[in-house]
Parts: sequence; C-alpha cells; structure tokens
Amino acid sequence: MILFQNARLISFLSGGADGPCDVAVSGKHIRSVVPAGTIAAGKADKVIPLEGRTLLPGMFDLHMHMYFVTDNFADLGARSLNRHLIDSISYLNLFLMRGYTTVRDCGNSHFIGVTLRDAIAEGIIKGPRVFAAGTCISPTAKGNDTFPDLYTEVDRPENLMGAARREYSQGVDFLKYMATGSVANDTGEPGACVTTPEELSAIVEAAKSLGTYVAAHCHGTAGILHCIRAGVKTIEHASFLTEECIRLILETGSRTALVPTLSPVCELYEDREGTAPPHLKAKVETMFHAARMLPTAGRAGVPIGWGTDSSMKFSAAHPGYEFYARKQAGFSAEEMLRQATIESAEILGLSDRLGTIETGKLADLIVLEDDPLSDITAATEKAPVLVMKEGEIVCGCF
Ligand SMILES: [Zn+2]
Repeated sequence: MILFQNARLISFLSGGADGPCDVAVSGKHIRSVVPAGTIAAGKADKVIPLEGRTLLPGMFDLHMHMYFVTDNFADLGARSLNRHLIDSISYLNLFLMRGYTTVRDCGNSHFIGVTLRDAIAEGIIKGPRVFAAGTCISPTAKGNDTFPDLYTEVDRPENLMGAARREYSQGVDFLKYMATGSVANDTGEPGACVTTPEELSAIVEAAKSLGTYVAAHCHGTAGILHCIRAGVKTIEHASFLTEECIRLILETGSRTALVPTLSPVCELYEDREGTAPPHLKAKVETMFHAARMLPTAGRAGVPIGWGTDSSMKFSAAHPGYEFYARKQAGFSAEEMLRQATIESAEILGLSDRLGTIETGKLADLIVLEDDPLSDITAATEKAPVLVMKEGEIVCGCF
C-alpha cells in the first residue's frame, strides 16, 4: 500500500473530501480517502508525506496530436516513419510528466496512435492511456497538403461509410472528421465550412454503425450548427461559438461536448517571441476574442473538455499554458480544473473509473507544489512534482 499523507484535496474533485487528508492506494486503485492522521504509517509499504501539497486526479487531454513535435511543419513531413514513432513516444512521455494520464490523439499518420496505445496498454512502453483516431477524414480542402499523410480526403456522403470502415479496421477508437478549414493548414480558412450537412450526417451514421463516434474539427459558426444537428459527439476548437449554438446544444439534449484548444490561438495572438508567421497571426485574432463565448456555454450546461493541440516543442517550453490561455478567455480556476479532470472523464464515458479522487477509482494522481485555487497560472506553469498512473509512480521526486 502507498500512503499519501497530509494531502490538500479539492472537494469538488474528491467526492466532497476536503484537505488535509490521507489517501491510500493499493494495486491500481484508490482504497481510502480519510482525514489526515487516520491511517498508521506502519501499515504502508511506502509513505509519501505531502505536507499540504495539492493532490489532484490525473488530467486528460482530449485534443492532442503525437504527430506534432515541432512547429516547423515541413520537418514533420520529412521525417522517416521510424523517427516519427520515436518522436511520438517522447511526446507521450512529456504528457505523462506534465500530469496527463489520459490523452486522445486527434489525428495522426500511419495509425501510430493505435500502435502506441496498444504498446502502453501491454506495458511495453510507459505513457498516458491513449484513445486514438487514425488519419483525419476530410473533404478535399485547401491546405490539406501542408501535412503529408495526415489527411484522407473523401468527398460525397456515399463514400464516407467505406472511409469509416477502413479507419475502424485499423483499430481506431473514434473517427476524426474535418468540418471547417484549419488554422495550421497554409491556405485553410478556419471559419469556412468544407463539408455539407449531408456528409456530416453520413460520417456520424457510419461511426454509429461501427459502435463509435465522430470528433469534428470545427471553427466556424455554420459548421458548429451543422455538427450539432448531425450528432457529432465532440466539436473540436469550437472557435466561433454563438448563443444560437449553445441554445441548439441544450435544445437537442444531445450532450454534444466542446473541446476548445486555446493554446495555439493564444500563443499566436500574443506572439511573445515575435516569431508567429503573419498569415497565422491574422487568422487567430478574431478567434482569440470569440473565445470569450466559451465560458457562457460551460455555465449554461454544455460539457467542455480539455485540449491543448500544441507542438511538443511548445508544450515542453510552456507547461500549463492551456490554463493560462483559458484564463484569458474568462474561465475560472474551478471551471478549468473540472474540465481537465472530471468533465473530460465524463465526455469519454470514464467517470466511473477516472476523473476524481474517490475510493474504488483508478489511482491516477498528480501532486502540485502550489494551490491551484489560489493562483491557477502559478500552480500549473510548473510540472507536477509527482505523477502516478494506475497505482504506479511514473515520475516524481519523493
Ligand atoms: Zn488538432
């Protein structure tokens, strides 16, 4: 048994338990959460004295790409497959060290997400729990050739069932579909629809018939409305969200979730290093301001997941940047902590096993040096001092 002594727990992430508490872990699971001092240290195989540091559930990133290790897109396409695999493993390692114990790979080439998901599940390599899409299924669209092998272009509704089956036969967990243009694609127009309502309905029906769902890349308002009507499960980015979109989600009762990814938007908008390409900077300016609608959606009851969508190079240099970026959009510390844990677990249908610190759940736990409720930016811009996944300490200095 591993005993975390004298932890600060956050009640809304710990089934109502408030710090200071002791948390006992045995095997893969949390065995008890009790007031500090209740469990005798002698009963534990290992005691971790937290001395008031904050214990949080392992975090989720519902929108990452192990594909993106650098912001130099030309380099990505020039890599050998071997190098791509090694890069992806090191990116997954970084995620784990940053406290993400569950990630969703939202598009990759060569089904590398599937391969690494299985290698991690089998214990061959260490990494976060992975849910993997395959390639991004996209209508023929401007700029898709920016990223070699990342997109599978498919046009017309009748062709989407075949595309979905080809992806699914490779073992993907869900389908990624492009509903609007992209920021990162050289000539992509984020606000513009690249699909039709008929194509969206066809891909959603194809996914349902295979027992899975669609995560749709979607920035523009018309695209968001089409995605909600078609029954897409997660709308990625959701940049130009309006009150009409929020109303429609609530009216349909579909629990359509939004997965904003404000890190790249905020990074390009602020351009702290003065290196943002002008054409990308121009694209994100309106997005940065439009993001202020997202907290309104969350407060109205729309599920909001956590996503970073950043390169490994940027993530390594700026831990916790998504917390900073969402704070600029108006989210509170409590809202963000919920989104990165319990709310993302609910979106993936995992809240019976993950997302909070409660007896019986899997022991995915992270320790922060500082209190995230008093200063979310300061507490998250440093990597966690300990990360545990399924009862195993995967990094930490205790
Ligand atoms: Zn993405």
